[in-house]
Amino acid sequence: MQFATICKIAVDNGKPVRIGVNGGSLNPELVMQKMEENTDKNLGRTSDEIINECMVLSAIQSTELALECGLRKDQIIISCKVSVPQHLIEVYRELARQTDQPLHLGLTEAGMGRKGLIWSSTAIGILLNEGIGDTIRVSLTPQPGGDRREEVYAACEILQALGLRSFSPSITACPGCGRTTSTTFQELAEHVEAYVRARMPEWKRQYEGVESLRLAVMGCVVNGPGESKAANIGISLPGTGEAPSCPVYIDGKKYKTLTGTPEELASQFRVIIDEYVATRYTPRVTAPPALV
Ligand code: SF4
Repeated sequence: MQFATICKIAVDNGKPVRIGVNGGSLNPELVMQKMEENTDKNLGRTSDEIINECMVLSAIQSTELALECGLRKDQIIISCKVSVPQHLIEVYRELARQTDQPLHLGLTEAGMGRKGLIWSSTAIGILLNEGIGDTIRVSLTPQPGGDRREEVYAACEILQALGLRSFSPSITACPGCGRTTSTTFQELAEHVEAYVRARMPEWKRQYEGVESLRLAVMGCVVNGPGESKAANIGISLPGTGEAPSCPVYIDGKKYKTLTGTPEELASQFRVIIDEYVATRYTPRVTAPPALV
């Protein structure tokens, strides 16, 4: 469908339009012109730099065309499809310099598993941290039969990591080191994570702001209390050779000390979390809006 026809439909229905530019389908005349300019003026630019410049130019030109066709500025969002993090950063920094239109960030063809997650998070995180970007997508190639919602979970984590939005309580668990030889802190961290995940749907319906809750499960009482105090609720388990007691901190202050088997510790910690949620967060008067 012709660009002008798409714009006309958007003008008629008033819906937002995403102007998408893809490196593989750039206007060949524009690319040729920039390549020749590079040669004639001996500019020494790489072909990647030229392609990135053409993507920005193309996005800006298409936006101007859409505005001429009658679209409102608030109907237009720009998206440039790039598969290398450094190119995404370069293209979007330039777009942000040249336009105040909303920008959609996403690394296309990011790949599977760890690679897709890390490449996407690196590029999107750097841009968002600079205040660039209004919507995001983490494109992941799923495993056969894999859960497509992984993309959404990853996007939520990026926004939460940067402090831009809160979707669910964050649980800090120390990585473990020579100070601890038991796996109790890892098991408790997993247990707390599963417990919070299970309780969140109900808590979200009942309390305002519960998604900003911060928990910490640390592996020793030498360095653990620092991180525990920084959380809303933190517990430091005994490291190697330490007394079998676990100080719990609430909002930076020592609250009590727990003792017992790993199961007993988990049970006592759950009670503390429940009490904190019930007393520190304001009950909702209406149900929260559904995520779409
Ligand atoms: S909190 Fe203690 S056990 Fe955990 S990484 Fe730090 S020093 Fe090691």
